[in-house]
Amino acid sequence: MPTARPDHQRRLLDLQARDTAIDRIRHQAGALRSDPEIAAAQERSTQATARRDEAQTEVNAAEEALAAAEAAVEQVATRIQRNQQRLDTGTGSSKDLTALQHEIVTLSARRSDLEDAELAVMERVESAQAALDETTAATSEATTALGALTEVRDARLRELSGEFDREKVARAEVLTGIDDAALVATYEKLRSSHDGVGVAPLQGSRCGGCMLELNPKDLAAIRAAADDAVVRCEECGRILVRS
Ligand SMILES: [Zn+2]
Repeated sequence: MPTARPDHQRRLLDLQARDTAIDRIRHQAGALRSDPEIAAAQERSTQATARRDEAQTEVNAAEEALAAAEAAVEQVATRIQRNQQRLDTGTGSSKDLTALQHEIVTLSARRSDLEDAELAVMERVESAQAALDETTAATSEATTALGALTEVRDARLRELSGEFDREKVARAEVLTGIDDAALVATYEKLRSSHDGVGVAPLQGSRCGGCMLELNPKDLAAIRAAADDAVVRCEECGRILVRS
């Protein structure tokens, strides 16, 4: 049976406490980084931004369409005005003047249609702008919500980072007090294969690692073992430290 100084064995429990704390901090930080609430807020923000971008695209297209509709109305109005001026001066044959009058009627009907179309486009611009206002507000809300959650998380991560650094220092100090590389190596090996717990105290007749009661025969053997014997739990295999 391997041996180690009893005080080194007891310090192994302190080392375990530090390692357990470090594992807990790592686990908490990992959970925070993959927080589903933040992921959902991120998703909402991304979707709101996409809807706002779509609304902006529609506003741009509607405004372009409005400019084109205005130009079309303007063009016909100019032609009507020109024809009217020619008609007013009365120059040209009566046949020409009749043709001009006829064209003005046709152009006026065309202008009326174009003005109706222009009105429809103005309504499109209005509703596109309303959609843009709405989606911009929703985006701002979603971004603010995400920012608030992220801020809380980052503050907690900074706290954990501080705790992590302190635990690392404390662990290094404990490790300095265990001048037994073989004992530490056994502990590390057990820790990696036993859910992070390589050593446990013997609590009465129970293993503090697996929490199982030791059978009387094993218990008697452990109690009879020399103080510097490194004993192991027969159930889980962890190092058992007697107090
Ligand atoms: Zn055990």
